[in-house]
Amino acid sequence: MANRYAPTGALPKLRVDLCSDTVTRPSAAMRQAMARADVGDEQKGEDPTVNRLVERVADLLGQEAAVFLPSGTMCNQIAVALHCRPGDAFYCHRSAHPLTSEAGGGSAVAGAHPHPLDGPRGVFTAEQLDAAIPSASRYAPRPALVWVEQTANLVGGRCWSPEEVAAVLAVSHRRGMASHLDGARLLNAVAATGRPAGAWAGSFDTSWIDFSKGLGAPVGAVLAGSNDLIDEAWRWKQRLGGSMRQSGILAAGALYALDHHVARLDDDHANARRLAHGLVGVAGLVVHVAAVETNIVVADAGEWPGGPAAFVAALAVQHGVRASLGVAGSVRFVTHLDVDAADVDVAVNAVRQLSAATLGP
Ligand SMILES: *Cc1c(COP(=O)(O)O)cnc(C)c1O
Repeated sequence: MANRYAPTGALPKLRVDLCSDTVTRPSAAMRQAMARADVGDEQKGEDPTVNRLVERVADLLGQEAAVFLPSGTMCNQIAVALHCRPGDAFYCHRSAHPLTSEAGGGSAVAGAHPHPLDGPRGVFTAEQLDAAIPSASRYAPRPALVWVEQTANLVGGRCWSPEEVAAVLAVSHRRGMASHLDGARLLNAVAATGRPAGAWAGSFDTSWIDFSKGLGAPVGAVLAGSNDLIDEAWRWKQRLGGSMRQSGILAAGALYALDHHVARLDDDHANARRLAHGLVGVAGLVVHVAAVETNIVVADAGEWPGGPAAFVAALAVQHGVRASLGVAGSVRFVTHLDVDAADVDVAVNAVRQLSAATLGP
């Protein structure tokens, strides 16, 4: 059946795909590692490769235990369910994934009430959080959970600083709330800052990383936390149909990514800066090179004739270069494993040509 939400019909030949870091295809070596995996029944705890993966990620994130899940979205859904009772509130940035991209799952699955916070580029302050939390009351939703997305995705891959995170966690502790780190791109923050994953993730009650983004595996994410929380997360995994069987095949791809695709995230960041430099001064777009911290470049296309959607469509249809729509009149380019510096140059030239054709040289 056709996808009636797909943005465009058939693309012309796709030359460079910068629409997301989810588009990577597993490499031949990753596929071999997957084909060789030792497997067992994961649902019974008997898949040795999955067991190896979750131990490794728990260590990496500075947590006691971890559970393998089919997606980052399921990590987030389960985290909301672990920390919130129906009617409880969770506090996150307005651009955070559960508010924009999970089909309302936090409310639909856990019955929780999202409280959006504003702030430049995906980051809110401890003071804003504190002011938004109601004092003890029979009227307000019970404030249960504080949520940090590292890196902040839709707004351009910005890294929260250690001080920003510490201040927000101090408020959550003082107000008796739990804390969750959406670490879909945590390892990009690690590459950008040099601060280890455990230093970022270990002070949250739950945290997770995704394997199907910059790490280049086809499927999977790992949610980590205390032994008790991960026991309960297993109950939710079962309830939601996220328990798998011989999923060591997938975990082997994730383990391969941890061994081979972490150090190279620096290349994605260099390519993102290269792209941003190339787009500076292009008529119709505004790009701030200094704002590019990781693998995401956001350009303001509010002045583009027809707006950002017209830009994204024309770039794809006329030049075979795919970008995506960001928030608030922006377009988003994401670098990844399947894009090199030469591809970035192709994309820059395409945008320059499109701009000259649309707005004049
Ligand atoms: C992609 C993403 C998710 C969801 O991960 P999936 O594996 O695609 O379900 C959650 N949070 C952020 C910030 C993401 O970018």
